Amino acid sequence: VIRFDGVSKWFGQFQVLADINLTVGQGEKIVICGPSGSGKSTMIRCINQLEPHQEGTIHVNGRAVHHDMKGLDAVRREVGMVFQQFNLYPHLTVLENLTLAQVWVHKTPRKIAEEKAHHFLERVHITEQAKKFPGQLSGGQQQRVAIARALCAGPKIMLFDEPTSSLDPEMIKEVLDVMVDLAEDGMTMICVTHEMAFARRVANRVIFMDAGRIVEQAPPEQFFGNPQTDRAKLFLSQVL
Ligand code: ATP
Ligand code: MG
Repeated sequence: VIRFDGVSKWFGQFQVLADINLTVGQGEKIVICGPSGSGKSTMIRCINQLEPHQEGTIHVNGRAVHHDMKGLDAVRREVGMVFQQFNLYPHLTVLENLTLAQVWVHKTPRKIAEEKAHHFLERVHITEQAKKFPGQLSGGQQQRVAIARALCAGPKIMLFDEPTSSLDPEMIKEVLDVMVDLAEDGMTMICVTHEMAFARRVANRVIFMDAGRIVEQAPPEQFFGNPQTDRAKLFLSQVL
């Protein structure tokens, strides 16, 4: 459902992605890890073209994506994204955060949008907070709202960029549990995370990036048990 062919990207003179080749199939769970600045966020942001790439092609559900393409909205509906910072609208209630795009962008009737919102709030175990504002919720609750909001668009693929990195330890689990649920439901997922227990449990493939390149990719048992490169060994010695 996602394919990178020879993708490169520069920020000015700086090459942030170098000849990325990657195929992700329906229902796969990919965990991306690697040192800070290695290009993890940039790579997944190219999938929904929050960042344009300059060389190579990226196919999403059979369509080549570009920043100026027709139908980028449709691609972004198919590809949900959850960020480290939850990016909720602080002046809107939880329910309004979930219905805003549905009603105004996708022209869903409000009643249906609200039903959908309640359905996904239930899935992330947070129904009782619908009338509150994001600032009244814990970080873990806010992130679960962000996941529910992404699900409201009916994505076929979910991208997660360090979704638990800004959370206190006791809240990490409640967010990971929701992600495990989604994975068990068959969602195609690409997660940038350093939660290695999550990777072991959920990922069918771990991708290790360094300096804009995919340096290793392997099933988690193999990657954690027997990393092939010195760079990956060093990285694992720091995060495990
Ligand atoms: P982290 O683990 O810290 O999140 P990352 O692997 O996600 O790192 P990226 O955010 O993709 O790394 O950034 C890769 C490189 O590109 C970094 O050196 C970063 O400074 C640079 N970079 C990222 N965004 C921009 C930008 N908008 N303009 C210029 N350089 C950028
Ligand atoms: Mg990042």
